[in-house]
Amino acid sequence: MEQKLAETGIISNPKVHLNLNVRSLQGSSTLVINERSNELINNGKEVFKLGLGQSPFPVPNCVVEGLKANAYHKEYLPVKGLHKLREAFSNYYFRRFGVKRSADNVMIGPGSKELMFLIQLVYYGDLLIPTPSWVSYAPQAQIIGRQVRWLPTQFENNWRLVPEELDILCKDDPYRPRLLILNYPNNPCGHTYSIDELKELAEIARKYQIVLLSDEIYGEIGHYGRHTSIAQFYPEGTIIVTGLSKWCGAGGWRLGAFIFPDSLNWLLDAISVAASETFTSTCAPIQYAAIEALKESEEIETYLHHTRRLFRTLGRHCSLQMIKAGIELVEPQGAFYLFPRFTPFSPELKLRGITTSQQLCETLLEEIGVATIPGSDFGRPKENMTLRIAYVDFDGEKVLQAASGIPLESELDEKFIRTHCNKVTTAVDRICEWITAGNGKKTPKTA
Ligand code: GLU
Repeated sequence: MEQKLAETGIISNPKVHLNLNVRSLQGSSTLVINERSNELINNGKEVFKLGLGQSPFPVPNCVVEGLKANAYHKEYLPVKGLHKLREAFSNYYFRRFGVKRSADNVMIGPGSKELMFLIQLVYYGDLLIPTPSWVSYAPQAQIIGRQVRWLPTQFENNWRLVPEELDILCKDDPYRPRLLILNYPNNPCGHTYSIDELKELAEIARKYQIVLLSDEIYGEIGHYGRHTSIAQFYPEGTIIVTGLSKWCGAGGWRLGAFIFPDSLNWLLDAISVAASETFTSTCAPIQYAAIEALKESEEIETYLHHTRRLFRTLGRHCSLQMIKAGIELVEPQGAFYLFPRFTPFSPELKLRGITTSQQLCETLLEEIGVATIPGSDFGRPKENMTLRIAYVDFDGEKVLQAASGIPLESELDEKFIRTHCNKVTTAVDRICEWITAGNGKKTPKTA
């Protein structure tokens, strides 16, 4: 019998015995491109890392000190998180964004990504996401076996979701349970929504009783003015997801949070049950340190002003360069992403055998060393010539030092950007030169 069993190849045959839902997945493209870029760099190649969306700024000093002071905490914490931290998130969201929810409505997790996976696992409904959307929402649904419904958007509207599209999708089967993820400031496009747009979307969500997951992980990196949570307009159906990864430069700390409405607490409890059987609780010292990040403090305020100013100026600089080169692009309003479209260059690209965004992305990495992510990984059709650029390849610590001497009321100038974010500006120049030299129509005017 042993011989017979060995012949079946149960252990050695992944093609047959791998869960169908994960068989076609190849690893999150944000992480794959990061590892590939590092590998190329280690092999001596010059790579401009515009792939992974990671804040280059250091974690603020007061938060690092908080971590040092709490390193001795070794106990498992409650599944939903340290009560003081849950309270801190509740206070912070009220103070910053006017959303009043109690500490009992907050759950802490090891990154917002894990929390979003768990909500998809626990909530029985279709996943609705605009195209384009962040690379991991759809694969998470696929792993769990949920149906994904992509909502169309238009370049002309900087890929924002409009209420009409949501209505069209829902009206044929109005009672179907659905989970809509709305992410703004947006990854991959850098757009955000006006108050009126949020109100209109909230109205449709209410009409169909959609569970709305508002991914506000970039909420503190709105480039202009304050972020508004859609929870203000659809309080009973909106779950907020947030964390420290982006605005606090702490992606690797893995600290995320859910902020639920009372009406959905049954769902929060179910997520907590799933968490108790999977990750148990979130890293204790990190939870204590996170309390420091959420306190009202001048240090954090100044840090945020500086980081927003830099992302705003750099985002504007990069988009203007690309627009001048004839690439289709809308200037970002938040986060640190650009989502250019190269359609005007499609005929020339086709002559070079480039007909998909994946091929475009590969060629840019190979020929000019610029790492980006293809639009197809964000749910755009593969022939759609879009890419995501994360304009984050600079030394955040040095930039903060250099910018600290420039009054916050002043904007940073082109010289500052070109000096201190040289890798990003050079990468964008290279893209513009590459696309126009023999591939395109206009010539970029780089300063
Ligand atoms: N959210 C970041 C990105 O889109 C990186 C982290 C991740 O994808 O897990 O690049």
